[in-house]
Amino acid sequence: MTTNQSISETDVSVARATGFAECAIALRRALSTTPVGWALAVWFCWGRVPTQSIMLWLATAFTVWAGSLVVLQHMIVNGSKLAIHRRRLHWVAGLDGFGWGVLTWFLIGYDPVLDATLMALLCGVMSINAQVYGTYVVAYYGQIGVLWAISVLGLLHGDNNVRALDYAVGLTVFITLTAYYTRAISQRLLEGIRLQHANGSLATQLRTALQKVELDAATDALTGQWNRRALDEVLKQQLERHVSSDIPFSILMLDIDFFKKINDEFGHMVGDDVLRAFAQRLREFLRSADFCARFGGEEFVVVLPETSLATALEVGERIRKGIAQSPLLSKPRVQATVSIGVATMEKGQSIHALFAAADAAVYLAKNEGRNQVRPHTPMPVTVAQ
Ligand code: GH3
Ligand code: MG
Ligand code: MG
Repeated sequence: MTTNQSISETDVSVARATGFAECAIALRRALSTTPVGWALAVWFCWGRVPTQSIMLWLATAFTVWAGSLVVLQHMIVNGSKLAIHRRRLHWVAGLDGFGWGVLTWFLIGYDPVLDATLMALLCGVMSINAQVYGTYVVAYYGQIGVLWAISVLGLLHGDNNVRALDYAVGLTVFITLTAYYTRAISQRLLEGIRLQHANGSLATQLRTALQKVELDAATDALTGQWNRRALDEVLKQQLERHVSSDIPFSILMLDIDFFKKINDEFGHMVGDDVLRAFAQRLREFLRSADFCARFGGEEFVVVLPETSLATALEVGERIRKGIAQSPLLSKPRVQATVSIGVATMEKGQSIHALFAAADAAVYLAKNEGRNQVRPHTPMPVTVAQ
């Protein structure tokens, strides 16, 4: 992952956590209903305002609207990123305010009834937008600031300065009140979003902790291999598969030879290191699908799925040779060998019987001089040593 990617991903999650992304989506939704507002305005004004003014306003509003939608769409599709898209959202908000401000400039001042209606429409637009910008109130302030400035400029530009002043004052009071209340609502909304986000990450932490506990419960602390509990579980699954599909599987039981002597000679700590090294070396001889567990003390069990006795004996032999070939520890130099018993699951056999068979095979290997691989039944195949 490059630095750039990680920055933008953090940024995307910040945008989500602060509700910025929601704001962008809500704004696009609100803008998609804007043409209804235009239709209303045109309907009110038709015949009372020069057609040229109506057309000029519509053209301005449409251009601003279409551009804003393109920007928003782009932002949302690529995932809103707070640091990058903040400025774009301000532009969209400002332009939207500009479009509606131009309405006051071009269409007001022809008829008192119409003026009141248009003002009501304008206030309606602002009220709707207050909800849209609930999660990103700064953009809303930008929008109403632009709307206010353009409206007041337009009104002052007209002939009737007294009426213009009335409107400017009315609009200012409305905007101030809306801004004041929006802030409180917005803060609550943001708190809710942040809480939701915090709960989400808490849930993730808990899930991770739970997974770790589950893993710990199935892992042998000394060697990092699976433990007896995990072994039982895996064997249960293998047995089910074996019963339903007749697929063979085998186990190897490994017992380090004369391990007690290692402890006696080098001490328990070195003994522990040897066990760790042995477990690590063991994995080198196995496929990723093979399962290796510490059975207890200096004994390990390997489960070989979909493996016949002949193949399991080959695997056992590979391990035996590999362990005997080079020392497990170099400092102090500790060389060990291992005796391996091999057993294959047979029809109608229980897990307990499988273990007993592997154990008997280990016993045989020990009795026959250690550093041996032995099967649980009279050997059907010859394995070269
Ligand atoms: P054999 O060849 O017959 O298997 O002889 P052995 O000495 O390996 O077998 P034995 O069962 O007599 O001794 C096993 C020793 O393993 C005894 C025990 O103290 C030691 N052991 C068991 N668990 C641990 C462990 O976690 N750490 C260490 N250092 N030693 C352990
Ligand atoms: Mg033993
Ligand atoms: Mg032993």
